[in-house]
Amino acid sequence: MAKVKVAFIGLGVMGYPMAGHLSKAGFDVNVYNRTAAKAEQWAKEYQGTAYSTPKEAATGCDVVFVCVGNDQDVLQVCEGENGVLAGLKSAAILVDHTTASAELAKQLAASCEQQGNDFIDAPVSGGQAGAENGVLTIMCGGDEQVFKNVQPIMDAYARFSQLMGPVGDGQKAKMANQICIAGVVQGLSEALNFASRAGLDTDKLVETISKGAAGSWQMENRSATMVKGEFEFGFAVDWMRKDLAIAFEEAKKHQADLPMTTMVDGFYEQVQELGGNRWDTSSLIALLQKKG
Ligand code: NAP
Repeated sequence: MAKVKVAFIGLGVMGYPMAGHLSKAGFDVNVYNRTAAKAEQWAKEYQGTAYSTPKEAATGCDVVFVCVGNDQDVLQVCEGENGVLAGLKSAAILVDHTTASAELAKQLAASCEQQGNDFIDAPVSGGQAGAENGVLTIMCGGDEQVFKNVQPIMDAYARFSQLMGPVGDGQKAKMANQICIAGVVQGLSEALNFASRAGLDTDKLVETISKGAAGSWQMENRSATMVKGEFEFGFAVDWMRKDLAIAFEEAKKHQADLPMTTMVDGFYEQVQELGGNRWDTSSLIALLQKKG
């Protein structure tokens, strides 16, 4: 059987290692990155070929994966004469790993359908470490058979992937994920700040309460660095605010109130004002720590 040929568009913090896992799993991998030096570096590190446009990278591939910044960025790499869509062969599948809107997913699915291609929206969770270690969680939207075709390929970098429903439902699941994170991180920030000020040993506290009902991934993985005011561990505040803005738009359509998320988004805005645009999402505690 011919080797499955795939392309990966966008070799950022997430895409670079994800494309690397595809190569290590034995797929025939083409890559494209806007800053060509990164694609060249990738092709030196892994087996695969770097191309200078998304169209060239996508040409002849069975599946094309995209992982760029936001809706506009996805459109820039997919549309136009040098975009992915122009390079897709008949029946090829486009998978978008970017965290973007459900509307964009529907728009891309319609463009794919018009030209005889399939589309899956597939935002990921698990951060830089999840991408590097190949243990991402992937939330997908699209047709069941198409999902079944791409799932074994995504297994190269996923611990778990699930079809949530039709096109757009992967993005909606990611919105729910980000809503959860906002509240959990704010709660943890308040608890740690309270505990420090009240004279508790925060290491002992976390060791103890993480085993009970208050435990969370954020508590296990971020408490120690939050207490020290260290915020260089992956998902940036700028990205989080982009994701929350997408969630607010979607929530309006369903009359779903997000009071706590709205409040936390305001706190993230204050973190940006402190210069924390690239700090990770656990930096909410900085606002509480700086008070006299
Ligand atoms: P990143 O490191 O900033 O990388 C973004 C990638 O997209 C780069 O390869 C960049 O190319 C490319 N890009 C951006 N705009 C483009 C455009 N208009 N045209 C062509 N290429 C463009 O971002 P990331 O952390 O990998 O995140 C990628 C996506 O995954 C985002 O939607 C993010 O929300 C989501 N995500 C990230 C994390 C995380 O922990 N980082 C976790 C889950 C989900 P250049 O190299 O030329 O800049």
